Amino acid sequence: MNVEWLIVGGGIHGVHIAARLIGEAGVAPQDLRIVDPGDRLLARWRSSTATTGMTHLRSPAVHHLDLEPWSLKRFAGTRRRRRRPKSFAPPYDRPKLTLFNAHCERVVNAYGLSELHLQNRVTDCAIDDHRVGVRLSGGDRLEAANIVLAIGAIEQPAWPDWAPRDDARVSHVFEPGPHAPFEPESTVAVVGGGMTAAQVALRLSREGHPVHLLSRHPLRLHQFDSDPGWLGPRFMKAFLEEPDLDRRRELITDARHRGSIPPDVRRPLRQAIVEGKIVRHESDVRQLDLKQDGVALSLSDDHVVEARRVLLATGFDSRRPGGRWIDELIESESLPVAQCGYPVLDSALRWHPRVRVSGALAELELGPVARNIAGARRAGERIVGQLLEAVDTHPMRSAATSAP
Ligand SMILES: Cc1cc2nc3c(=O)[nH]c(=O)nc-3n(C[C@H](O)[C@H](O)[C@H](O)COP(=O)(O)OP(=O)(O)OC[C@H]3O[C@@H](n4cnc5c(N)ncnc54)[C@H](O)[C@@H]3O)c2cc1C
Repeated sequence: MNVEWLIVGGGIHGVHIAARLIGEAGVAPQDLRIVDPGDRLLARWRSSTATTGMTHLRSPAVHHLDLEPWSLKRFAGTRRRRRRPKSFAPPYDRPKLTLFNAHCERVVNAYGLSELHLQNRVTDCAIDDHRVGVRLSGGDRLEAANIVLAIGAIEQPAWPDWAPRDDARVSHVFEPGPHAPFEPESTVAVVGGGMTAAQVALRLSREGHPVHLLSRHPLRLHQFDSDPGWLGPRFMKAFLEEPDLDRRRELITDARHRGSIPPDVRRPLRQAIVEGKIVRHESDVRQLDLKQDGVALSLSDDHVVEARRVLLATGFDSRRPGGRWIDELIESESLPVAQCGYPVLDSALRWHPRVRVSGALAELELGPVARNIAGARRAGERIVGQLLEAVDTHPMRSAATSAP
């Protein structure tokens, strides 16, 4: 198969960029494909958010996958007339997860993206003068004039050294597929100090499980995972003027409120702790011992926590996403990377004239919000903005086919 545009990754970023390319840059749907191993687009987003038990997004209503900023609000209005109240939660009008997901589905349908989804995984990628050649896990090959890497970080869950990887009693919330069911009322130890850990602990508690919540640090209260100043020029201007990419990496690390929770999650968490439904330990895990009917976790404060199951909510590995095939692409094409291993991009998010990136991989250009929905919107604007500019300056070319 030969296409003009190939998007690798059908998550939040891949879907939004596909919508922008078709809806704004005029790319014909038949010239575009999205490769993603999920059985539908956004499968990993849906499963990971469902696992957490979250009811609302952390981000505001203008952060969604459609093109026009008020699209989600308008969509909610039409649904409300069909008897669905309370679609948004204060502060900042954060959408209900069910509403957000229904709106994502509307975007997927509006641009016919399901028909463009190839359920597969990219395993290799090579570039020649004219095309990007991609091999898929089944052995099939694809060629594209342009590819967009939107692979996210979900396939790299952070796994502490003490946690065995091959024992069903220990799992990570962001592992794919359904988790082995929890025995009713069995004790679960949730490890992690951020929003996901708190939400999962609350969900399990609501389902009747006694829960131990093990965090290394005190509860950190932040409405968002970085200051909203990073959404606009207030902080981004200085970030983009910073030529030293190591310094940009430091700015990103400092800006992120890692392991933080917003007030509307802290409130029920505190309540559950007061009621003894969740026991919170502020301590590091030193060792895990497998027992006949569960596990024993030895903590740095000398306590031992016994539980039937351990659920890791320890976030994502900070290594550059992508693994072997991205390493090989960097090597074969001499693609520039910073000290931290992440791509060095131009302002249109090009890593190579035929390779654009979005999401986690675009952090050094998009700043601390790169991984979020706001980052997807910003990536879409940058990529399509450059295509439209190229059309303006070359009136004989169409945006759909313009290779840079
Ligand atoms: C539980 C949770 C809640 C969140 N809530 C919010 C929120 O409220 N607001 C907000 O702004 N952000 C939120 N985020 C952060 C962010 O928006 C999401 O993580 C989002 O899913 C990132 O989008 P993405 O497309 O980069 O990655 P993903 O959605 O993870 O999609 C990447 C896709 O690429 C696929 N892929 C990877 N490698 C390959 C390959 N080689 N070939 C083909 N496909 C591949 C993956 O399987 C995956 O399907 C949340 C994240 C999580 C985990």
